[in-house]
Amino acid sequence: RLRRYLTNEQPAESDMEVVTTKLTLCLTGDTQDVLVQNLYLSPDPYMCNRMRETFDSYFPPFELGKPITGLGVSKVILSNHPEFQVNDIITGFTSWETYSVIKGGLGIRNVSHFDVPPSYHIGILGITGFTAYAGFLQICSPKKGEQVFVSTAAGAVGHVVGQLAKLTGCRVVGSAGSDEKVELLKTKLGYDDAFNYKTQSDLKATLKRYFPEGIDIYFENVGGKMLEAALDNLRVHARISLCGMISQYASGCGEGIPNLIQLIWKRAKMQGFLIGDYMHLQEEFINYMVSHLKDNKITVIEDVVDGLENAPGAFVRLFQGKNSGKQVIRL
Ligand code: NDP
Repeated sequence: RLRRYLTNEQPAESDMEVVTTKLTLCLTGDTQDVLVQNLYLSPDPYMCNRMRETFDSYFPPFELGKPITGLGVSKVILSNHPEFQVNDIITGFTSWETYSVIKGGLGIRNVSHFDVPPSYHIGILGITGFTAYAGFLQICSPKKGEQVFVSTAAGAVGHVVGQLAKLTGCRVVGSAGSDEKVELLKTKLGYDDAFNYKTQSDLKATLKRYFPEGIDIYFENVGGKMLEAALDNLRVHARISLCGMISQYASGCGEGIPNLIQLIWKRAKMQGFLIGDYMHLQEEFINYMVSHLKDNKITVIEDVVDGLENAPGAFVRLFQGKNSGKQVIRL
């Protein structure tokens, strides 16, 4: 659970605490209630914003002293809800606890594919795969031969975007925060090229080297200096999918971008999105991804940390760049 709110700093393990309490596994009378055993939890970067008391957007801040909430994969232990039966495997919002009572109606669904590891339902078949799918295919309208740049390319969303770009016939270059991740992008994930942004002194010049003709599509996960450098390297009619800005989360997202005028000069389009607005495409997305997984056309990278006691550390890894692919907590 959350111990203290963040102000303008990166999250630390000490901002959270793990407590043990004695439980009686039972359900009271609410017809929506489902008692679940949590199997996998999803630490996600947006949760950092919810650790700030002043955060006032699509989710409320976490409550101090209350369990952290987030997406997970869970097994039904007891159910008052007609749609969920004992032993069903479900996915949706739960709490960072061993056992939780959740409301069956709130975006909770039964898992429909059992021939994949259960953790895939918070990753490649869950929010991060879906974000890559809608954020790239819907927002960027990619065309064969286009030049695509992906930041945080070795992360949960980024490692999928690059593969979707290749499946669409684009050339794709990714940036990541270590040489190991760069190697992973080039050797396992099909990226045409990749670079370690931490070792570049001039990001604008670096992007010019990788995209001498300019960038058609920028899939933005980082914000700040990277967005600034990408804006200066856009091609006419470029599209930017504004998925996330993790480099700005610690500072409360307040930094400005001085060269936004490039959007005008390049007649470019930049669109922010929240994956929650694309739920009407969820079934189409799952069918697409399952069929590509079956055909071995998508490689999935997961970074698994075991135990609820290690959940704070697993979350903090995201902000230290320690994860490759989807960070998962296995209980
Ligand atoms: P990742 O798996 O990519 O993990 C986070 C990564 O971000 C780290 O591994 C690190 O990679 C990078 N990073 C951390 N701190 C910084 C920093 N200060 N500057 C630059 N890079 C940093 O996370 P996800 O794939 O789950 O999320 C990727 C982005 O997508 C996030 O911005 C997230 O908020 C956003 N998102 C948006 C959604 C939407 O609906 N719009 C839904 C889901 C995610 P590296 O080693 O490369 O630095």
